[in-house]
Amino acid sequence: MTTMATDEKDAPKAKCSETWYSMDEAKIEEVRKAKAWMQDANYFTRVMVSPAASMKMLMHAHSGCEAGLSAGGKPLEVMGMMLGYPSDEHKHTLVVTDVFPLPVTGFETQVVADDENVINYMIKLSDMVEVTRKERLMGWYHSHPFDVDEAHNHCFLSSTDLSTQLSWQNAEDPNGNPFLAIVIDPLRSFAKNSSELAAFRAYPPTASPPPNQCPDGSIVTEDAKRVEVWGSCWNRYYELKVEYFMSDQAKSIIDILNHSHLWARTLSATPALETEHRERVGERVSAVVEKLEHAHAAHASQASRMGGGFGFPAESLGGGPSNKESSLKKASDAASGIANEGLLGQTTQLAKRHLFSSECLCNGNCAAFANIAAEYLKRKQARSCPVAP
Ligand SMILES: [Zn+2]
Repeated sequence: MTTMATDEKDAPKAKCSETWYSMDEAKIEEVRKAKAWMQDANYFTRVMVSPAASMKMLMHAHSGCEAGLSAGGKPLEVMGMMLGYPSDEHKHTLVVTDVFPLPVTGFETQVVADDENVINYMIKLSDMVEVTRKERLMGWYHSHPFDVDEAHNHCFLSSTDLSTQLSWQNAEDPNGNPFLAIVIDPLRSFAKNSSELAAFRAYPPTASPPPNQCPDGSIVTEDAKRVEVWGSCWNRYYELKVEYFMSDQAKSIIDILNHSHLWARTLSATPALETEHRERVGERVSAVVEKLEHAHAAHASQASRMGGGFGFPAESLGGGPSNKESSLKKASDAASGIANEGLLGQTTQLAKRHLFSSECLCNGNCAAFANIAAEYLKRKQARSCPVAP
């Protein structure tokens, strides 16, 4: 054991990743007491996410898609809580060590009675965390399983999400527990074979960010563009840089897991949409045209030598001994190859459209989660400051 510990300490990469796993409770408590974030609306700029947390969020979001689709409906949103702490060693940094999925998959069709289960679950979870973990519940995550958009992902806060996040921040930030929101775009993650997630904090109502500044810090002067990417509350929250901490070995395992679990990758892999294919298809069509022109010229001269006629010789269309060599046959094969690829690409696109085409689910589910969060915070507060009978 001693040897291993020394080895890990000596290896620079392992040491580097280890710092994110070890917690100095006394120092973190000082950070919690200082509450630097209460004086600075943009205090946090970075989130360090553990491989376990990112994997669990992605798998959870994936399960929501599968649950919705296998029930014959649309991909479902999922939600969960994050565990972590504000870093003492690295200023302006939040650390997410783990996440807990909430049992809310498919609850868009259910009513208030089921919220009760979720709230009770959250209260139990919070109690358990208090006695078993050094970290705290310091954020919430949810998925936006909307149609893949080639231009940008769907990681943003809707107006409902923003008010949910503000409720959390108002309740937790002053208690030394700065609260974070993470949004995952599972369908784009599958399509692009990457983790499409983003972390956000809400501005308090008193903060006034620079004009036209989007959550990612970019200045966009076009109103419609800001709303399209960041939703109607684009100037009321900001994005934090997300980084992952892991050793090289952990990273290679995560890569393998990501690869074999990104089930929609096969479906979304449409050669017709790949850059290389797109760039080459024009050249290939030109080559076919050239072959056809060549064949036409050759056969026209052959026909005239044979004393007229307007058709191609029978062997060039198949059956003749020179069939394989026939330039017309080659052109025809190349043309049908391109046409078949195009047809396959279009069919896949149609299948995807049929499977994933969905309206924005955000309003239904996010609104339900907003109620749950509000009720949970109300009860938690009531427990910590009981009203005299
Ligand atoms: Zn949402």
